[in-house]
Amino acid sequence: MKITAIHPYPVWVGIRNQLIVKVETNEGIVGWGESGLSGREKAVVGAIEHYREFLIGRDPMAIGALWQEMYRSQYFEGGRVLTAAISAIDIALHDIKGKALGVPVYQLLGGKQRRHIPTFATTRGPCGPEMIEQAKELMAGGWTAIRLFPASHDSRGVYEPRASIAETAKWCVKAREELGDEVVLGVDYHHRLSVAEAASYCQKMPSGTLDFLEEPIRDETPEAYEALRRMTGVPFAIGEEFASKWQFLPYIERDIHQFNRIDVCNVGGLTEAMKVAGWSEAHYVDMMPHNPLGPICTAATIHFAASVANFSWLETRASPGELYHGFDDIEIFPVQPRLEGAVYKVPDTPGLGVEVDEDLVKKQSFKFWEAPHLQRIDGSVTNW
Ligand SMILES: [Mg+2]
Repeated sequence: MKITAIHPYPVWVGIRNQLIVKVETNEGIVGWGESGLSGREKAVVGAIEHYREFLIGRDPMAIGALWQEMYRSQYFEGGRVLTAAISAIDIALHDIKGKALGVPVYQLLGGKQRRHIPTFATTRGPCGPEMIEQAKELMAGGWTAIRLFPASHDSRGVYEPRASIAETAKWCVKAREELGDEVVLGVDYHHRLSVAEAASYCQKMPSGTLDFLEEPIRDETPEAYEALRRMTGVPFAIGEEFASKWQFLPYIERDIHQFNRIDVCNVGGLTEAMKVAGWSEAHYVDMMPHNPLGPICTAATIHFAASVANFSWLETRASPGELYHGFDDIEIFPVQPRLEGAVYKVPDTPGLGVEVDEDLVKKQSFKFWEAPHLQRIDGSVTNW
């Protein structure tokens, strides 16, 4: 079998752009993948076009070798743009291989280790009484792990960390009081805090209020996370932007974090994700995959989640309200994983178990979109 064509489709679907990639073969088997570098999809398309130049004519079954060649072939190795491109192609190659062998993708990853995939869901905010009501709604829907949305920016895009941590801590304490001890509660701070702010936030809440704190600070410096680790006992969930096993390396080996927010569409696809999972298993770190994209990302992550021993919860793509109305992608992806209560069943059809209406995809356009550019009250830049 040979690869005959690779088509990147950066298209607006539902509430965001999705960069989905089709890989064609001379045997008529096609595979679909998705790339996760949201907001900079055009850059990833360029990388895919470079890879396409040497991938056409190659054996799609040689996934490991092609991964090495994509990562290392340009002399300037790695980086988020390149691994986002590699991720989409790697996932599509797994889809092709599963279809060629007549097995679901989880059979290529060691086989299924669980009957279904538990998920966590997220409140939409604002941080206040509505947050607790939404959490109750999710619990009534079967969720036992919930991520609370912290106090965020105002309508002008002004974000003050100290105001946010005071308000968020207050409502997290109330949430724990009202929701009980059993439910898992976490907060995603989107890299918006300094070490001092993150420590203060944790210290404003009694021990046991939160079960995980996601991305309190930026990740460029593992030593900063180690400093924060010494200042709080709240488990950390990090890694959705990590673009290789090497970015996970210092965090895993120094036991800095407890949950891996790995993104199979950014880290380098299923090939790289399985290596990170094995490494994490040796340190008893659970996989809590990032999954904010489309059905191809969800399906690939379900197969990954089914195949690893060290797993906690998969992120669902929606929040209260949307969970019950669905997205407008069902026509574009007529076969895709659907939530059953708070869990996903693992698809048993060959490949990923996603079907794509390519004619509809071609009719979707790309929209340039910028994440909010937040500022402090004094006008200085801060993270979204
Ligand atoms: Mg996050």
